Amino acid sequence: MLDICLLGTGGMMPMPHRWLTSMLARCEGVNLLIDCGEGTQIAMKKKGWSPKPIDIMCFTHFHADHISGLPGMLLSMGNAEKTSPLVLIGPKGLTRVVGALRVIAPELPFEMRFIELDQPRQRLKISPYVIDAYKVSHNIPCYGYALTIPRAGRFSADRAKELRIPLKYWNRLQHGQVIEEDGQRYTPDMVMGAERRGIRVAYCTDTRPVPVISEYAADADLFICEGMYGEEDKEAKARGYKHMTMQEAAGLAAAAQPKELWFTHYSPSMMKPDEYLDEVRGIFPRAKCARDGGTAELGFEEDGEDGGQPREGRGQPQESGGQPREGKRQPQAGTKKDKA
Ligand SMILES: [Zn+2]
Ligand SMILES: [Zn+2]
Repeated sequence: MLDICLLGTGGMMPMPHRWLTSMLARCEGVNLLIDCGEGTQIAMKKKGWSPKPIDIMCFTHFHADHISGLPGMLLSMGNAEKTSPLVLIGPKGLTRVVGALRVIAPELPFEMRFIELDQPRQRLKISPYVIDAYKVSHNIPCYGYALTIPRAGRFSADRAKELRIPLKYWNRLQHGQVIEEDGQRYTPDMVMGAERRGIRVAYCTDTRPVPVISEYAADADLFICEGMYGEEDKEAKARGYKHMTMQEAAGLAAAAQPKELWFTHYSPSMMKPDEYLDEVRGIFPRAKCARDGGTAELGFEEDGEDGGQPREGRGQPQESGGQPREGKRQPQAGTKKDKA
């Protein structure tokens, strides 16, 4: 299960009714935050959550509305007696930027580990997440992120019996271990089916609508995307400031076919993003205007008939690149509780 909470949905500045865009993911007790603008820790407290258990922080870019809340958040994490390490991921310069912000939060009871992104596409594996960072098109270096929870294939007892693999090795093979004992060699691919579809959430904000965004949102369970403006006459403004309109975001979703699209990072000038929803649903029907605190609980889908047969070599986590695939699944009722 992957829990997603969109803590805020505003762009540029926090408003009395709208915190800045930030997303929290929780899976197997590992918490990951994307962006931390001014007030993000208050948005978390409003949900009743402590900042202590944040393990990973990803930053899209270094504009203030995405990172200025960091020193206060770090101090609150320290006050909550966090001692486990914090991994920070972001564009080149992350160590320097965080170092500058930390002048006012110098003493923290936990270690900070920095991962600076220096490739246009970069994959990081921090269990249970596979984190894909991909460069988008803003007026400073900016990355989108796709989070995947991979899912191993199904174990086949019949196949293990057929191959006369002793029962005592089954569990280890299921956990991906290669066994070499008594002159025999057993590998997981002998008894495990193909890797099954995992869970994927794609997130991007502060960018023009470049094709790479659709690649990473292809077939995602949830695609969270900037929809800075809805008015037709704001498109030139969006282009000039390197942002995106809701209509442009819906166009990306139409190419990617995620199960659902949520808009976020609304301009302070846009009071009622819902006014444009009918129009954007003409481009991509499964779109909705997220609100602060919107949540989704994403689970693995039911096994299909093709989920379990062992094959030569186990599949790798699905590459997030490539073109959107044909034959998309339709949204399934009951797999998600969405209060956005
Ligand atoms: Zn922004
Ligand atoms: Zn920006």
